[in-house]
Amino acid sequence: MAEEPCQCSDCQRFYREHDRLIRQFPTLKQQQELNWASIQSFRTLCGKVTEELQKTLASCNDKSQKSSEYINICTNQELEDAINELENINAYLYSIEALMERIFDIKVSDKIENKFKEIAGEIAPDPLNIDRLILNRLFHQTPDFPDKKN
Ligand SMILES: [Zn+2]
Repeated sequence: MAEEPCQCSDCQRFYREHDRLIRQFPTLKQQQELNWASIQSFRTLCGKVTEELQKTLASCNDKSQKSSEYINICTNQELEDAINELENINAYLYSIEALMERIFDIKVSDKIENKFKEIAGEIAPDPLNIDRLILNRLFHQTPDFPDKKN
């Protein structure tokens, strides 16, 4: 018997988001652009926050600015830990970006893009589409999921 996908609220939110991204970006080109923009925005934001925290840490360490408002927000140890964690994330994102660049170089013909759209429609149909509603009802009729018995 095939394993039922987990239906907890986190997973359901993930399935919805997953399907929405396929539905709204159903071609290779759109997926490339979406994921590129996503990684870039993630890096930009994390990088900027890291920069700000480093400035804060520097001003906290500067004895002449002991009155800095930031001192009350975080301890230096908290700041250092957060900076280290964010620097790790930025390093991972940088690696992902290097791989994404290669994916981004690939282009396919319109025929293949049409295949992408066709498959996208099959695996992530409009949630208000009647076939999808029937499928959802069938899922909800499934008796206890295995993991609920634990
Ligand atoms: Zn789950």
